[in-house]
Amino acid sequence: MQLSQIMQVEKWLSLTEIQPYHVKLSRPIVSEIIKWQIDQYREFIIRNNLSVDNIRLLSNIIIALENECLKCLQPVINATGIIVHTNLGRSPLPKMVWDNASDAMCRYSNLELNLHNGKRGDRMGILPTMLNRYFGGESALLVNNNAAAIHLILKAFAQGKEVIVSRGEQVQIGGGFRIPEILAESGAILRDVGTTNITTVDDYLDAITDNTSMVLIVHQSNYYIEGFSKQADIIQLAQKLPKHILLVVDQGSGNQLNGISGEKTVSHYLKAGAHLVCFSGDKILGGPQSGIILGQKSIINTLVKHPMMRVFRPGKETYILLEKLLIHYLNKDNDVMSRVQTVLNHPLEWHKERAEQIAIIAPNQLTLINEKYLIGGGTTPKAQFDTWAIEVKIAINPHLIIEQLRNNKPSIIATIKKDKVIIYPVTLFDDELERVKKVLQQILAN
Ligand SMILES: *Cc1c(COP(=O)(O)O)cnc(C)c1O
Repeated sequence: MQLSQIMQVEKWLSLTEIQPYHVKLSRPIVSEIIKWQIDQYREFIIRNNLSVDNIRLLSNIIIALENECLKCLQPVINATGIIVHTNLGRSPLPKMVWDNASDAMCRYSNLELNLHNGKRGDRMGILPTMLNRYFGGESALLVNNNAAAIHLILKAFAQGKEVIVSRGEQVQIGGGFRIPEILAESGAILRDVGTTNITTVDDYLDAITDNTSMVLIVHQSNYYIEGFSKQADIIQLAQKLPKHILLVVDQGSGNQLNGISGEKTVSHYLKAGAHLVCFSGDKILGGPQSGIILGQKSIINTLVKHPMMRVFRPGKETYILLEKLLIHYLNKDNDVMSRVQTVLNHPLEWHKERAEQIAIIAPNQLTLINEKYLIGGGTTPKAQFDTWAIEVKIAINPHLIIEQLRNNKPSIIATIKKDKVIIYPVTLFDDELERVKKVLQQILAN
């Protein structure tokens, strides 16, 4: 045992095996990991009375560095069949939008400067014009996410006042976003009406008191009630509500596409007479993370001036990305569409061709199956569509296959259904088909 034979940190740092990690993790972090591994190794050989083996130590260091790299935010391959997958970053942005936004991001911009008169400007810039053109509505406001949008709306209009919400809509959406809790947090008083499956217009009207400020309609994002269920007709509700009571809709997904089962468009609610409609920018709309609030000008103005707005306002990147995205949407540009729109545009043969393209390497072990893909990300689970997926039929524990796929670089994320690994080509980008094919080839060969 000759502890001095352990290579010095500086030497390790300059090894060609280690240098790539300077780029991935930064030199100080690589150095810290090496020091820690050396300490561990020193203890290990003392305890076991071994001689120094720098090759062994190198392998320990590489494993530790690799593990650290897994924490870095990086692209992954989505083979889950869920287009807007919250764990996988929701909507991917069109590359063109990112490129178009980069100049204003990396230089100074007129974020809060009015270039017409040189005075302090409005952060929203041209966005209300674009949003109103795309969705309808009079005015618009951007906040960090939809949860913030609802919080701000409640804070501004319902603090200490009653908000009527259907029992069927008191939902938990994803991680920790519960309607009753967000109401309580903003100081509003929840007044629930109807039953889990039925709420009528009269249920709402009967619940109105002198202290009622708002009716809040919440899109049932992650569940729906099969069978005997009915929600109040929003057009009737809007007509019958007393003028001083706000009708607010948490639409959730930002959907503006017709024909998605169970998903009404944002326009639908605005046309129906909602005073405010809010939704996420990074679900079906396919933009950056944001909460978008549309509605009447005077109401939006109250929100703009609210002190909490300072807490919820997004960074410049959000405004610029949404602006660049909406230009393509307004131009109906076929080359720059949301992921959801892109996938919906393809006929079922396209789905089958993709699945065949992968399965061809081993048709007996990779079998084509009829499956459904989901829009996902807190849109209605009714939004399911036919696709062709691949079932991996090999005598290896499915969890092991999932792990092998995940260990690929980039990671491939697939799912297990009924003890079988299922690969959904529908959510792959075109240039990922070949990669998935290669990895499956390797797994089958072992
Ligand atoms: C997703 C969703 C939210 C939360 O939106 P975030 O942008 O994630 O804050 C709230 N309400 C509904 C109906 C949703 O679908």
